[in-house]
Amino acid sequence: MPSLNRLIFIAAAIGVLVGWLIGLLPDDAGLRGGVLYASSLIGSVFIGLLKMILIPLVFTSIVVGVASLQAHHQVHRVWITTLLFFALTTALAMLLALVVANIFKPGAGMSLAMFADAMQDFEVRQMSMPEFFQHFLSGLFKNPFQAFTNGDILSVLMFAIFIGVALVAGGQRYQTILQMMQELLDMLLRIISWIMWLAPLGIMTLLIRLVAEQDVTLLLSMLGFIVLIFATTLFHGAVVLPALLYAVTRKSPLWFFRGSREALVTAFATSSSSATIPISLRCAEQNLGVPRRIAGFVIPLGATVNMDGTALYEAAAALFVANLIGVELTLVQQLVVFMTAMIASAGAPGIPSAGMVTMVMVLQAVGLPAEAIAILLPIDRLLDTVRTAVNVEGDIIGSLVVQKLADDGAEYQGA
Ligand code: ASP
Repeated sequence: MPSLNRLIFIAAAIGVLVGWLIGLLPDDAGLRGGVLYASSLIGSVFIGLLKMILIPLVFTSIVVGVASLQAHHQVHRVWITTLLFFALTTALAMLLALVVANIFKPGAGMSLAMFADAMQDFEVRQMSMPEFFQHFLSGLFKNPFQAFTNGDILSVLMFAIFIGVALVAGGQRYQTILQMMQELLDMLLRIISWIMWLAPLGIMTLLIRLVAEQDVTLLLSMLGFIVLIFATTLFHGAVVLPALLYAVTRKSPLWFFRGSREALVTAFATSSSSATIPISLRCAEQNLGVPRRIAGFVIPLGATVNMDGTALYEAAAALFVANLIGVELTLVQQLVVFMTAMIASAGAPGIPSAGMVTMVMVLQAVGLPAEAIAILLPIDRLLDTVRTAVNVEGDIIGSLVVQKLADDGAEYQGA
């Protein structure tokens, strides 16, 4: 029996192949309908299971992580290193996008008329920068029960941080609660190991649907842009991030990719960093040896605020839209794109196509028409695959870097 890791890989390859074959069948073919229906059933059960475990997992892992860090007086160091790492890698990703987009000028020479209909029928929900901040800040603190039921990760995360700090501040008094949280986390990780057995089938079926439902003519018309985005995102994921990892920890990229591939493939297939959290945590702890207190803190936080792939895409796509409508963005305008894409990627939740929603803000910041999103939406499901995988990669590498720079190696019992 091949290892789970290998099974996931084989299943992903089969998924792409079958999806491609199914895509060749006519729309009304019975086989096509049947396979797509079965795929969507199995795929949604897999995603459903990941989502089922997600909120309790994020809550307990942040509580336990923060409590353990606080107990070791490491919390400030870990916070600062984590946020600096997130900001640095996001900035690098966007810089890369801007350089590449300036060199290759995607969209220049393409006819806007091709997209006129799509843009006309598209209604955007405009959100200005002040509105965005208001929305973001008011979303941070909510009734925890409401946040739990709505699957609102950011506010669950904030509540968990308070509980983690309070547990340590209370010392012996809350020992039972802390122990309960540790046991709960342990138990949830056990459930995740069961869910993982469905991962090969889940990933295969998600990829069958994804590939079969692509509109090939549309993809071909945008091929230049798609290839540019894929290549740049992959460069960031295969060269920039591993180089950073090596520079700080001396760990080889091969070792990293071997240990994290379950999470990367899941992110690719689900297009959701949040749904991938359970698997990212498992990879970081079990395969890459990141202590639970670090991984349990850095990964859920990263999945919500650290999105290198999304930032890269938003910056490149803004330049694409500008080229398409024949506007040359000045250096200052590109700086505005840089800053807004940084905020927009941090504000995007880790769900499919979330980057598209926050991108409206980037376009508006430099006066580009928000309706242009309509041009990008049909190809977004495809682009979201690699982008999400790189988002997740950034979080796992973040946990390794933070471990190296901020962890003094002290062990916390149970964590
Ligand atoms: N799907 C991405 C993620 O979950 C967010 C995005 O749309 O860029 O990380």
